This record gives sequence, C-alpha cells and structure tokens, in this order.
Amino acid sequence: MILLDGKKTAADLKQEIALSVQKLKKQGKKIPHLAAVLVGENGASMTYVNAKVKACELVGFKSTLIKLPEDTTEEKLLQEIETLNNNKNVDGFIVQLPLPKHINEQKIVMAVNPDKDVDGFHPVNVGKMTLDLPCFLPATPFGILELLERYNVETSGKNVVIIGRSHIVGRPMSILMSQKRTAGNATVTVAHSRTKNLKEITLQADIIVAALGKPEFLTGAMVKNGVTIIDVGITRVEDTTKKRGYRLAGDVHFESVAPKSAFITPVPGGVGPMTIAMLMKNTLLACERKEN
Ligand code: NAD
Repeated sequence: MILLDGKKTAADLKQEIALSVQKLKKQGKKIPHLAAVLVGENGASMTYVNAKVKACELVGFKSTLIKLPEDTTEEKLLQEIETLNNNKNVDGFIVQLPLPKHINEQKIVMAVNPDKDVDGFHPVNVGKMTLDLPCFLPATPFGILELLERYNVETSGKNVVIIGRSHIVGRPMSILMSQKRTAGNATVTVAHSRTKNLKEITLQADIIVAALGKPEFLTGAMVKNGVTIIDVGITRVEDTTKKRGYRLAGDVHFESVAPKSAFITPVPGGVGPMTIAMLMKNTLLACERKEN
C-alpha cells in the first residue's frame, strides 16, 4: 500500500508556485493577489479561509480577507463582489461556501467575474471544463488529478467509481476523469444517494473517489484488492479524547480499506491540502492570464 501523501505533494506544489512568484518579482511583474470573502462565523469555514490566507503568505501572494457579519444582506454581498470584480489589483477571489441561509448561493456564484473565479464554480468555467477548454478547474478535483499524476497512478481504461454527485466534487471529478488527459481516459460510474447495490458497483472499481460526507462509509468489504482510494470526505466527529472535542474523519474506513489498497489518501493530509495548493495554482494562472 502506497500512501498518496497530499501534505507533501501540496508542499512541493507550493514551493514551485513560490519560485514562480520570485521569478515574477525579479521581472518586475505583478504579484498574484487572492481575495477571500467570509460571511458569518461558521467554524469549518473560518478554518478553511485562514488556511488559504496562510498559504498565500507562504507562496508570496498578496491576500485580502473580507469578513462580513452573519446578517449581511444578499445585496451587500453582491456589491462586495462587484467591487472585487472591478479591482484591478485582485487577480482572483473566492466567496467561502456555505453562505447563510438568507443568501442565494447560486446568485452569488453567478456574480463572480469568470476570469477571477479561481474556485471554478461559475457556469462559464464549468461549461469550459466540460468542453475541455482552458478554464479554472475546481480546486478539489484539480488537486485529485494532480495527486494521481504525481504518483503515476494509471487511470486509462480503469473502472472509476465516484461516490457523490455534488457540483464541486463528484460531478466535475466524473467529467474530468472521463476526458482525454493524463489522469483521465477512465470508464466512470457516478454513484449517489439513489444508487442501488452500491457494494456490487464498488467491488468492480479499480479506483474509488469517495465524496459523500459520511464518515467511514466505505469499508474493506466494499472494495477489491489492489484498489486505489481517494477519500475526499472531511467530517468533524465528536471525540472527547481530543482537546478541541472532535477529530476529522474521512468517508473511508481506513483500517479495513488500506490493507486492500494499492494507493490510498489519508484524512487528514490527503485531498485537503491539495485543494488549497490548487487554489494557489489557479490564482497564479489568473494573474499570468491577465498579464498576457
Ligand atoms: P454534498 O453533500 O454536496 O454531496 C454529497 C453527495 O453524496 C450527494 O451527491 C449524494 O447524492 C451523495 N450521497 C449521499 N449519501 C450517499 C450514499 N449513502 N451513497 C451514495 N451516495 C451518497 O457533499 P460535497 O460538497 O461533495 O462534499 C463531500 C465530502 O467531501 C464532505 O465531507 C466535504 O466536507 C468534503 N469535502 C472535502 C474537500 C477537501 O478539500 N478535502 C472539498 C470539498 C468537500
């Protein structure tokens, strides 16, 4: 079993991005600038946004964090987005999801200028991704492709089962892995909450991407020997032995699945760090595309 070490791979990637930033500096060019908008005080969202700001510092980007109160109106948030769309200094920005219930997320995603949409959530970017045109790929699927590529995991002609059909993970992952690309050319099955006999399907899989948000859902009995496992899930599970009162659990029951796996991502330290590194990569791309 080989651990797909997202923490190390993400550190390598950030190092490469930092070198690109140094090059830009030397050439007197613009330094990438990422802005993040955080509405309210959702604990997990605050952790993610802080990690993104810290990653910007590490690679040498400029970053701006815009914190808005929980009761921010949709109109006010749309105004903030318009300001960021028009700010020439900002190359890319993200609005951290989920948003408070009174704000229509779809409307917010649609308001972001696709050229600054480094999360890759705008329909223009989703459409371009589907047609295999240059675009911003959503960071989590982009990170998974990068991890598979860097570990030379063979995907061509393999049976890939994606569990979950969300707009940010499962769906794009299924599109990307079926395309002609290095970590692609796979025969993809998308499983979801209405799928029947999931175990029969996962037992046929050469590669499984678990993105359903149910802690330790995929067990050893559901996978065949030699499988490759990408565990996207991150759920806070109560744990009184921990100082913070919880631990992070993936969607995969690591103890029973790992011994049967050829490759497997741990949680934490797998897909999570890759997601942040790819957001940095997208921001660098946004800056370079703007300058050219
Ligand atoms: P989501 O809740 O939007 O979607 C879950 C999907 O799982 C749905 O499409 C649903 O149909 C499917 N599903 C639910 N129960 C199922 C079942 N019993 N069998 C088969 N399919 C089932 O979730 P999401 O936003 O895609 O996130 C999934 C998980 O990944 C969450 O734990 C989330 O925190 C995590 N996540 C991690 C990262 C990262 O960077 N590591 C990024 C995004 C999401």
